[in-house]
Amino acid sequence: MERRRLGRSDIEVSVICLGSMNWGDQNTEKEGHAQLDVAFEHGVNAIDTAELYTIPPIPETHGRSEEIIGSWLQTGKRRDDIILASKVIGRTERTWFRKGDRPALLTRDQINEAIDGSLSRLKTDYIDLYQVHWPDRDFSSFGGNPTVWKPAPRNADETPIEETLEALTDLVKVGKVRALGLSNENPWGTMQYLKYSETRDLSRMHSIQNAYSLANRTFETGLAEIAEREDVGLLAYSPLAQGFLSGKYLDGQLPHGARRTLFNRHKRYEKPGSSEAYRAYGELARSAGMTPAQLAHAFVTSRPFVTANIIGATSLEQLRENLESTRFTITEELENSINEIHQIHCNPAP
Ligand code: NAP
Repeated sequence: MERRRLGRSDIEVSVICLGSMNWGDQNTEKEGHAQLDVAFEHGVNAIDTAELYTIPPIPETHGRSEEIIGSWLQTGKRRDDIILASKVIGRTERTWFRKGDRPALLTRDQINEAIDGSLSRLKTDYIDLYQVHWPDRDFSSFGGNPTVWKPAPRNADETPIEETLEALTDLVKVGKVRALGLSNENPWGTMQYLKYSETRDLSRMHSIQNAYSLANRTFETGLAEIAEREDVGLLAYSPLAQGFLSGKYLDGQLPHGARRTLFNRHKRYEKPGSSEAYRAYGELARSAGMTPAQLAHAFVTSRPFVTANIIGATSLEQLRENLESTRFTITEELENSINEIHQIHCNPAP
């Protein structure tokens, strides 16, 4: 499988990275391990997790995804062959993540607490890519519409980006982390981090993990140029719009055991106009000899600003279908057809 350089680091990641946020709820430890085995047999070398996971986040399953990866690493895996990505949570009122039941912030002491928790659950001495899961400041994210600007109130206890980056840089210096990345960031926040790296000689952000799919190309407005010029490549999450781009929920279907059927959480991918887009891309995929999921994945993986496409699956059948997407090319004709649909159904699920 093709590998791409992570930003300006010396890390090479496979173009498909395996996501793990459903392990510990929809998937058992055994199923998570089986997914890892199949993905690595196909040439995947990167795994994405977070201290937040399992999703949906509840105290009872907090940290399970990292624990499942940790127990897999202990089954005789060569740590050097694996690129492990995890994340520290940003601002949240939820108090169960931190000792003393405190709301989470991106302060130095909380970052230090978070990394030690992740390393212990992952049963490793270092994390290859440590990402800020979301900012310490409030702004539209996780399905709020980033194309509609709403001024957010500034919190009096907002941690300055400079302080967060200083603490993260120290993790790199002591060897707990190899490289740093962002997630759920916007152009302003990304450029702030880069500014402090340059003016204060602090570690650089090498990647940005944001939602990106045929149904949400908002990354291309602003962030794609930063990704290319500054080498902060996109690690695209929810490339199937959480399963919706497979077409499985069209016409009100609610398949047994599927994420939307079980949880019905944000409705991020059910905004007006989104079903029409899922249907149109599905028809295009079939006319091109792919499944709808494979077209959605091939599109994401082939973007020039993408470092890796973070895929998710709940069964080995889904996983294999998704991995197969690397066999397909987005031809110029297909690219034009995709952009025609995009022109009509532009970012229906930002
Ligand atoms: P996704 O690819 O959009 O959705 C994956 C889900 O779609 C699967 O769990 C499965 O759920 C369904 N699916 C997968 N393949 C399918 C297929 N071939 N046919 C039909 N249904 C299929 O990705 P995601 O799970 O939302 O995100 C992937 C990873 O990105 C996560 O594990 C996590 O590591 C990362 N992520 C990060 C953030 C962040 O804030 N940084 C947010 C979200 C995700 P069902 O079987 O339940 O339908």
